[in-house]
Amino acid sequence: MRVLVAGAGPAGLAFAAQSAAAGARVTVVEREQEGTLPAWTASVQTRTLDALGLGGLGAFHGHRGIRVGERAWTVPGVAERRVVSGGRLVGALRDRCARAGVTFRWDTGFEDLPEGIERTVDLVVGADGARSAVRARWADTFAPRITHGSRHRLLVRVAGTLAPQALVGLRDTPVVAWAQGDAAVVEVGDRAYQANLARRSPIELAGRVALALDGLLDAPVVSATPMGRTATVMCRQAGQGNVLLVGDAACATWDAEGRGADRALRDGVGLAGVLTQLQHVRGTMNAWRVLAGERHRERHSAGQEALRWAESLGTAADHHDVAAVAAMLDQRWPTRQAATHAA
Ligand SMILES: Cc1cc2nc3c(=O)[nH]c(=O)nc-3n(C[C@H](O)[C@H](O)[C@H](O)COP(=O)(O)OP(=O)(O)OC[C@H]3O[C@@H](n4cnc5c(N)ncnc54)[C@H](O)[C@@H]3O)c2cc1C
Repeated sequence: MRVLVAGAGPAGLAFAAQSAAAGARVTVVEREQEGTLPAWTASVQTRTLDALGLGGLGAFHGHRGIRVGERAWTVPGVAERRVVSGGRLVGALRDRCARAGVTFRWDTGFEDLPEGIERTVDLVVGADGARSAVRARWADTFAPRITHGSRHRLLVRVAGTLAPQALVGLRDTPVVAWAQGDAAVVEVGDRAYQANLARRSPIELAGRVALALDGLLDAPVVSATPMGRTATVMCRQAGQGNVLLVGDAACATWDAEGRGADRALRDGVGLAGVLTQLQHVRGTMNAWRVLAGERHRERHSAGQEALRWAESLGTAADHHDVAAVAAMLDQRWPTRQAATHAA
């Protein structure tokens, strides 16, 4: 079976490695050059890495944590996770692909391939991320829908290391932030953003964010970059003919939710499993449409729910409504009282 994969990210590589090892002839086209590795770090479920035989990768960091103002809790009942650098993860998957005989075409965007390329292979897998060119080529079929939230996001870099995945409600300038390594994604309500942060020079912006986060990020702010508004993307369907989408190309949720890499890997492994089991493109397309449809609906509603929840939490923090913030935490994590009080 000949398979063309667009995108050498976690989804495309996990799929390519597993399906090539099971006998498929896989070619991956990647827009970037061979030496380029991603700069992000992600927290990925230990069981996802285990499924790929990469359980030893990254550092164990236990469970997701939440911090509000000066208080922090670890959240019980949430899957065990490891922090991995995107570079190490993608590097390990590329090695796996090379051993399984996957062919790479670097420096080649899917948009560079001729119209009708799908007729020259048995299956096309669009794994080219949130701005997918595969999705764009078949936009009528996939019909992506983007839902914007009302909060603005900034990527903040600090000189130091931040506690992983802290969700922060500030006292004076209301933000919700998600931190890891030397980066934090800070979210600000539209009103506060327009009043304090919009149309600032990079230096002014970093200064204002540093002031707002004073004492809360445990490290000095080096830079702050606007990332646009929170958003989720969902497609009407996962595949058509012999073309399908996986990972962020199929369903990208608000990135501060911090599950994209995990889901991308599970998509890749899941699709390779279906293909290997069925050994038949039409059967795989049918099975994937059902499987992915369910997953995407669940992801989208979870993403939307998380978005609404974070926005309400931000609004409560905007109004310094400590009781409302506490009630929201209790509602989302009823076992919070039993959680470890970390600070
Ligand atoms: C700062 C930051 C922090 C994050 N933290 C976390 C986290 O803690 N936990 C988590 O689970 N997720 C996290 N994510 C999200 C995670 O990185 C993504 O959800 C995940 O990488 C998606 O994998 P993917 O393979 O679907 O797409 P991508 O990783 O986007 O990979 C797509 C690949 O396709 C290539 N490509 C793009 N366009 C084309 C084209 N036209 N033709 C050919 N190739 C193309 C790209 O170069 C890339 O190599 C974070 C993201 C960011 C930006």
